[in-house]
Amino acid sequence: MKKHNFSAGPCVLPQEVFQEASQAILDFNNSGLSILEISHRSSAFVSVMEEARQLALELLGLENKGYKAVFLQGGASMQFLMTAYNLLQDKAAYLNTGTWSSKAIKEAKLFGEVVEVASSKDKNFNYIPKDYTIPQDINYFHCTSNNTIFGTQMMDFPSVDAPLVCDMSSDIFSRELDFSQFDLIYAGAQKNMGPAGATLVIIKENILGNVNRQIPSMMDYQVHIEKDSMFNTPPVYAVYVSLLTLRWIKNKGGIKAMEALNNKKAALLYDEVDRNPLFKGFAATEDRSVMNPTFNLTDESKKEKFDSLWKEANINGLSGHRSVGGYRASMYNALSLESVQVLVDVMKKLEKEG
Ligand SMILES: *Cc1c(COP(=O)(O)O)cnc(C)c1O
Repeated sequence: MKKHNFSAGPCVLPQEVFQEASQAILDFNNSGLSILEISHRSSAFVSVMEEARQLALELLGLENKGYKAVFLQGGASMQFLMTAYNLLQDKAAYLNTGTWSSKAIKEAKLFGEVVEVASSKDKNFNYIPKDYTIPQDINYFHCTSNNTIFGTQMMDFPSVDAPLVCDMSSDIFSRELDFSQFDLIYAGAQKNMGPAGATLVIIKENILGNVNRQIPSMMDYQVHIEKDSMFNTPPVYAVYVSLLTLRWIKNKGGIKAMEALNNKKAALLYDEVDRNPLFKGFAATEDRSVMNPTFNLTDESKKEKFDSLWKEANINGLSGHRSVGGYRASMYNALSLESVQVLVDVMKKLEKEG
């Protein structure tokens, strides 16, 4: 029986996507070939890549605005250094909101001066810092829109004169934003878009070309853009499954429809966390994430009982990250409202049965 999958990533994808994706392994578009054995230079795959790149821009409302989309490898972790490689000449500013931001800062320091404008480390990253000043003389400002591990999410983004760079790995395509405020967006596919192996990078082309260093070809955004995301063999299957998911998002009504459902799911779960005396939220209320709600038991002696209840209810992936403990219910686009209701029922059952 299919589980209610609250895994933080790789994560739940639409069932329709799994079906179509598995069919393509056997016979891709009635070609007599598997998607796993076709050339990435075949016209069939080139059109997959083109549609995926185009659809990513379309869904974000970034068509014809000077942006290019590419699918790269190396995960979001590779983007921690690639952004700095391509953009950091002298100085960059970073907002530190968790593990992923910290890792991005560490890599950027290899390339230039990094100013950490604020950090929420003092409270184990359970909130988003708000009062900070961004220096004027920076090459870019970097932030993480959703903190997958701690369950916080940025609701507002600062207006900066420098390019705005954002790690959107765990909330891209989940909510409407004015995406044109960003100059570079990156996201590992495995949180809300597809399987592990592909990383979507959206780049406003005019921010490139401003560093003096030599950039190795594989690290150079301009090279990947010029080669239409085919500089070397792309992660064919991961891009294909991402395309299926992007089509699914579009067919469901785009990001607007995703956001409406995601807000419903989050309200259902947070209402129960707030109401049920056996639970308390981890993240500061105003900053809590619609994608990855984190919460704890108020009475640790109930842990064994709760863990067995949710496992019995066919729920997967609810344990919190080791740096936070407790629980994390990752509720990406493809997770249904019904799955959240199952979790809420389990929480109520724990209260009733003590
Ligand atoms: C998971 C995650 C990463 C790391 O992604 P990889 O693809 O494993 O490198 C980076 N940033 C955020 C916000 C994440 O959720």
